[in-house]
Amino acid sequence: MNSSVDVKSSANNSQEEKAVCPLCLGDKQKRIRNRLRYGVLRDVMSCQGCGFVFLWPRMGQQETVDFYQKGDYRNVPRERLGLQIHDPEDTFRSRMGQARHRFALVKPYLSKKISLLEIGCGSGSFLFLVQPHVRKCTALELDSTFAAYVRQKLGIEVLQEPIGNLSVSRHGAGACAGHGVAEGHQNLIGRRGSGQGGMDPFDVICMWFVLEHLHDPLADLKKLRELISDSGILLMLLPNLWDPLLTIYHSSRYEDFFYQLPHLNYFSPETLQMALERCGWDGQIVPVQIYGLSNHLRWIFLKRPQVQTSKGTIDVWNFPDRIYRKIFAQRRQTDSLLVIARPRTKGAI
Ligand SMILES: [Zn+2]
Repeated sequence: MNSSVDVKSSANNSQEEKAVCPLCLGDKQKRIRNRLRYGVLRDVMSCQGCGFVFLWPRMGQQETVDFYQKGDYRNVPRERLGLQIHDPEDTFRSRMGQARHRFALVKPYLSKKISLLEIGCGSGSFLFLVQPHVRKCTALELDSTFAAYVRQKLGIEVLQEPIGNLSVSRHGAGACAGHGVAEGHQNLIGRRGSGQGGMDPFDVICMWFVLEHLHDPLADLKKLRELISDSGILLMLLPNLWDPLLTIYHSSRYEDFFYQLPHLNYFSPETLQMALERCGWDGQIVPVQIYGLSNHLRWIFLKRPQVQTSKGTIDVWNFPDRIYRKIFAQRRQTDSLLVIARPRTKGAI
């Protein structure tokens, strides 16, 4: 096994420690499978209290940080498939199509007055597009090689800390309209990466396909609530547990591919709504079908994934494809969920 993450047998772990739901803290779980992508053994649990689906046991906080810092997250799967390891420059170019799609989502919220934080920036393709449209960009990227590349390429600050280590300083009464947990931090100068002075709150925070990776997603969503300005906006994309290949086509090959070691959390529109409410966010959840008809046909007939190209989400059959995706969106059975959330101004976090 190439991975530095020790893949233990599910039988050993599930007996040792009882699974606790990260969303409702309930202890009644049903194991729905014990095998992940590439045949990795790990339990997938479904909470009988709230319906949240998660991996158990979970990678610990430090184990998670190590996993991303050393680049294992990107490199191990490519090694397994016998593919060349991507360097940041390759990734920067190959992710540009995807970055344009994300830029289109965030564009309505950008102006030269605002500051934006992207968590999990990778090689920085998205921030490259955003940078000319905002006052200030900041990034968080645990992978040291990619963090160094983005610093050099874009000349911006790249933090290399888990979300839980970040904090902001709030100046003046205008920024003090918070409450609960956030209010307790209003006047504190927090840690900033290497422990220098605190940062100012961010106006926009983007987290593209990151929430599913987080060891404690609720703690981090609460932390983001502290890091954002009172009128700020949080934009996230994440996989949807109600993916049509799982819930409509019932593709067992796709199911083997869908559950994977780095994804600790599997949100549906319902459990995501619960998580946002619990963490002090007023969130709108928009079902988004990123993969199109040709990808689905490939899964159904060839039983394998589409190779990602620089064209990203563009499909050749534009018109039928648009209708096809719309049908799934209406049913909330899409492969992805877009979250547009604002900090709740009333009520406890
Ligand atoms: Zn639960």
